[in-house]
Amino acid sequence: MNSFKPCQIPQPKNDADSYIAAINERPLNALNSQSNRPKRNIGAHTKYWATGRTLKIAMYDASDEVIEEVKAAASEWLPYVNLKFDFVTGDTGDIRIHINPPNGVNSSEIGTDALIDDIGGTDAERRAPSMFLNWKSGSQRFRYVVLHEFGHALGAMHAHQHPDSEIPWNVQNTYKHCAKKYGWNKADVDTNILPLPRSHQHAYEPYDGDSVMHYEIPREWTFGNWGQSESWAISNGDIIMMRKAYPKD
Ligand SMILES: [Zn+2]
Repeated sequence: MNSFKPCQIPQPKNDADSYIAAINERPLNALNSQSNRPKRNIGAHTKYWATGRTLKIAMYDASDEVIEEVKAAASEWLPYVNLKFDFVTGDTGDIRIHINPPNGVNSSEIGTDALIDDIGGTDAERRAPSMFLNWKSGSQRFRYVVLHEFGHALGAMHAHQHPDSEIPWNVQNTYKHCAKKYGWNKADVDTNILPLPRSHQHAYEPYDGDSVMHYEIPREWTFGNWGQSESWAISNGDIIMMRKAYPKD
């Protein structure tokens, strides 16, 4: 086994605040992308940032070396989104990155969920990390981890959770394997790995096995010896998705 450790998406404290944060940032997050009618299910809103804006990315007290490495990888998204990044030290930002957290997890809030604590949160909560990255000097994989977590921070979900993936999931084995290997419970697996329920209010891009938002899928999780390695680069499908989410004016 390699050093593969799946990323974990934190769940918003509550869907109502997630919805308010999303529409405060960008009113179109509330709309059905196909019919432009308001969505009835607030859990199905998108969480994209307002187009054209500069996202302030706080790195707390990370070293210049780490900041430069994160910046280089994250900026690979910039040609495909109508956004700018401003990397700063300190604890005040739209996205707040904690390097090398004690729990060793790589994770990121989805898009505007990073702003949930602007609604009724305390000062400390507003300054709490929205992204965790495990940095190791010279790690080739770190660039991929940054690309993947920034995909979430820009509002992308996991590609392997696409309802049309047709991955032959061995659900019971996936639960067992993840409990043993990562200490994950059923909810962790449902949230991060297995297909998400189809929302009829959401316009889906086609399933993209090459997406940087796709996990490595070990054969223990599937039937028929199906597996998928990690893809360490932004795919054409990722580019199409981001261009649609953040069109140029
Ligand atoms: Zn992820």
